[in-house]
Amino acid sequence: MSTSNPENKGAAYAAPATPTNFIREMFIEDLKTEKYKGRVWTRFPPEPNGYLHIGHAKAICLDFGLADEFGGGTNLRFDDTNPEKEETEYVDSIMADVRWLGFEWEGLYYASDYFQQLYDWAVQLIKAGKAYVDDLNAEEVRKYRGTLTEHGKLSPHAGRTIDENLDLFERMRKGEFADGTRTLRARIDMASPNMNMRDPVMYRIVHATHHRTGDKWCIYPTYDYAHGQSDSLENITHSMCTLEFEDHRPLYNWFIQSLGIFPSQQIEFDRLNLTYTLLSKRKLLQLVQNKNVNGWDDPRMPTLSGIRRRGYTPEAMRNFVANIGVTKTNGTIELAMLEHFVREDLNKRSSRVMVVLNPLKLVIDNYPDEQVEEMDAVNNPEDAAAGKRKVPFSKTLYIEQDDFREVPPKGYYRLSPGKEVRLRYGYFVTAQSVVKNAAGEVVEVHCTYDPATRGGDSPDGRKVKSTIHWVSATHAIDAEIRAYDNLFSNPDPNDVPEGQDFTANLNPKSLEVLTGAKLEPSLKSAKPGDRFQFERLGYFCVDLDSNSSKLVFNRTIGLRDTWAKVEKKTAVSTQPSAKAKP
Ligand code: ATP
Ligand code: MG
Repeated sequence: MSTSNPENKGAAYAAPATPTNFIREMFIEDLKTEKYKGRVWTRFPPEPNGYLHIGHAKAICLDFGLADEFGGGTNLRFDDTNPEKEETEYVDSIMADVRWLGFEWEGLYYASDYFQQLYDWAVQLIKAGKAYVDDLNAEEVRKYRGTLTEHGKLSPHAGRTIDENLDLFERMRKGEFADGTRTLRARIDMASPNMNMRDPVMYRIVHATHHRTGDKWCIYPTYDYAHGQSDSLENITHSMCTLEFEDHRPLYNWFIQSLGIFPSQQIEFDRLNLTYTLLSKRKLLQLVQNKNVNGWDDPRMPTLSGIRRRGYTPEAMRNFVANIGVTKTNGTIELAMLEHFVREDLNKRSSRVMVVLNPLKLVIDNYPDEQVEEMDAVNNPEDAAAGKRKVPFSKTLYIEQDDFREVPPKGYYRLSPGKEVRLRYGYFVTAQSVVKNAAGEVVEVHCTYDPATRGGDSPDGRKVKSTIHWVSATHAIDAEIRAYDNLFSNPDPNDVPEGQDFTANLNPKSLEVLTGAKLEPSLKSAKPGDRFQFERLGYFCVDLDSNSSKLVFNRTIGLRDTWAKVEKKTAVSTQPSAKAKP
């Protein structure tokens, strides 16, 4: 397990306590029966055709987590058999993302490392009469394959002699034939009820430059032919993949048995689906190419680089994956559940600070003009070691526009004329009057304070129903805040009206930029990646776009929004409820 991950601050990763599952049981059984002489080894096999997403996090935690639990190791293997779609940029991002999640691989491999071996084995299968060169094109292969209710038909080319096949296969490799004109197929059973066993394609001709092997090859192995053999070459004992490969398992075993090589075994588990979220590299690539988002690491993207930039933690992701578990049936997990784990983790680790997103001036008429007091503020009530800091308090403050109503609706306990509230870590204040602009909007609230309530309590036991946050106007620093909503407005992004594609479900309000936020001065030294809880507002982190002259924050996630329900009924504002006491 990696300890090199800066996110882990050098601490070894402790696997969260999880209920057992059928895969873990299988590991235990195989160890008990000495199936692989007490050894377990897994691999994570991404295709470098895009950035990893939250679904991959599940596979990574499973592959690395189980191997680690049973004293084995995990290889990272790039499944790079489609030269047209694969790029080095993706290889690099995948390595960074696996490490960010807190894992380190034992071996680093590429399916392309095995091209020569796979070719030699294909020749071996041809010599054994188990593979042949076919001249049918893709469309014809499909027709001959039959259907679930109808047997397939043998290709008219299946009867070639071994010598003919060896000759044609070699010439395929040499580049004598055009793309799509020939394939190498395994000779299995055109009447098999399993379509994957009806003479599956092992090699196709693709004249394309590969990100690693360049132009050395113009024939490429299919996933089915490459995957199991790569597992076998690496002595993988448990090769986990998602359920859609269940029907490929007989073929996986057929190749390994026909070649008489190390008997890796394939195990399938359920693919992660999340509401409001697309987990498909192909579709995410489309969003990037269409510029629906600002790149793969746009904080609205469900990519690991996107959620990292947004402020999610690797610990939260691992806890989430541990808790959803694995099953043998596909389902959909509520996004709210992932968000729960993000909040839970951020709550423990984030420093609290005061920030006003939509400022309204609050002037304390009876506070001395030039006075500045340094108020003691707790950095993290969840972590005593996080200590305290000083926050400057002065005559003119900013509060949230939503924390004042000239005419308060029923159930509104924040500031309004004649009402007293607590300024967090400050004093009790009572609103007295307002200043309006030409449009009749309140631009300044005047109040009085009770000097006896310093620190936030009244010596006479007087209670207030609300505590609001604030920032001293003269000390405030400015920042841009990017607030995100779900990228898709439909819980199932793929559920679209006839004739439209999934982009029809994009949420036009997924990004809101606030430019006038006022921050307490301690945030001046915040660095990209630093995470905070903005009191009463949610969790935020410093974005990569920040520089010495401008801070940019991403809203990672809001606090649990109990006020929103009340709010909807009264239709007053969108801010979360004030807590009764700090
Ligand atoms: P995509 O369709 O997004 O490209 P994929 O399955 O083709 O996904 P690979 O790069 O081939 O992506 O995946 C590497 C590993 O991650 C595989 O073992 C795959 O089964 C697993 N994986 C991919 N998506 C999910 C998911 N949503 N849930 C769980 N595991 C996944
Ligand atoms: Mg794939």
